[in-house]
Amino acid sequence: MGSGQVTDWQGKHVTVAGLGVSGVPAAKVLHGLGARVTVVNDGDDARAREQAAALEALGVTVRLGDGATLPEGTELVVTAPGWQPDKPLFLAAERAGVPVWGDVELAWRLRGTVPGKPVAPWLCVTGTNGKTTTTQMLASILRAAGLRTAAVGNIGVSLLDAVLGEEPYDVLAVELSSYQLHWAPSLRAHSAAVLNLAPDHLDWHGSMEAYARDKGRVYEGNQVACVYNVADKATEDLVREADVEEGCRAIGFTLGTPGPSQLGVVEGILVDRAFVENRRESAQELAEVSDVNPPAPHNIANALAAAALARAFGVPPQAVRDGLRAFTPDAHRIAHVADVDGVAYVDDSKATNTHAAEASLAAYGSIVWIAGGLAKGATFDELVARSAGRLRGVVLMGADRALIREALARHAPEVPVVDLDRTDTGAMLQAVQEAARLAQPGDTVLLAPACASMDMFANYNKRGDAFAEAVRELGAGA
Ligand code: ADP
Repeated sequence: MGSGQVTDWQGKHVTVAGLGVSGVPAAKVLHGLGARVTVVNDGDDARAREQAAALEALGVTVRLGDGATLPEGTELVVTAPGWQPDKPLFLAAERAGVPVWGDVELAWRLRGTVPGKPVAPWLCVTGTNGKTTTTQMLASILRAAGLRTAAVGNIGVSLLDAVLGEEPYDVLAVELSSYQLHWAPSLRAHSAAVLNLAPDHLDWHGSMEAYARDKGRVYEGNQVACVYNVADKATEDLVREADVEEGCRAIGFTLGTPGPSQLGVVEGILVDRAFVENRRESAQELAEVSDVNPPAPHNIANALAAAALARAFGVPPQAVRDGLRAFTPDAHRIAHVADVDGVAYVDDSKATNTHAAEASLAAYGSIVWIAGGLAKGATFDELVARSAGRLRGVVLMGADRALIREALARHAPEVPVVDLDRTDTGAMLQAVQEAARLAQPGDTVLLAPACASMDMFANYNKRGDAFAEAVRELGAGA
């Protein structure tokens, strides 16, 4: 199983690690190609048994309750991206010289195997925050240019479906997580962007260096452009370290005036000084800041990154504008819920880490901030110190709220803080009521928790829904 395409799967012993969203389809596809597939899974619960029964009916072997032992004769392991690299299964594979592929690697290797289907180049997006938004913006821009495309990877259509399904694509907008990149050694994008790099998932990767290295893989072998964030030097360093195709260019994006080979903003206009005839002296207008929805600074950065990838693919300027105008963000990402008594209520429940919350807080002038939840090992000093000047007040809730309270005491002692000592479902209503009390007309009440939601809610969607519901109640009572 070298680094190329595998065309003959007949009789190959493949072990799929993990049932679930990527494991089940991978097992089915490989089985369909003629491979001898064994699925190994740690869990042995009712759901796993159900999935196992369905696969076994097809002729796939499933071993429940033992995801650690490498089945005899395995020639390839295909893993779910979330499985941690230091698992015994992978160590055994390494000892035996057996390659390990993630879902992305598998899809990449299966490109071009469907007769008559065009092989679509991949435009890839990764980063700590903004991946989904940027990938969707990119797909919207490509669509506006008349290209057949889809947002795939971590979102939307699965990569396997995109590569093997009947639908033909001219180009794919691919969102990639650091986990997926870790397991995708031979991926070679047409062009790729790393939006930003802040500590996240370090328990999985083992260190910041390892996390950065995995993110940096997205640039390996790029053909046309490596897109980096001028304001985040770590992303530029990754470009420098990458081994790319000859002629591939480094393209920066910036919220300031762009230099040559950059995209940026001049007097409210998104401009391109990279993909123009004479980049020393000229610039191409792409869109207005107001075409970006919402026009928060970090989202303008996302739009510029998406535009850079689209322009690298040869998309005309007009399509960038049309695509950005046509784009609407997914729920719970800086969603304006309502204005009540002159105060705006904004749901950014998806701000589940400090880096995201900081971007969110930077988008508003005077804020009552609702925060807290599961900190996942994060510290809050930098976030609070940098945002202190914007805070009218803070309402804290959730398991790790004390960490934020202590950071506030250190860096913003004058800001009033309401600490909610409850984790029941009514807590969000009280949080919103307290926030309303602290807010003054012209302020924004911003749910940007900087934490995961699972201590109080099933997920960030439910947390955002609870916020919106509470705001509606507040409005009804106003
Ligand atoms: P991801 O797919 O990387 O999780 P999303 O597009 O879903 O990213 O956005 C998640 C959250 O991250 C948003 O709700 C917002 O708070 C924040 N965010 C989005 N873009 C950026 C960015 N470029 N820089 C920092 N934070 C961002």
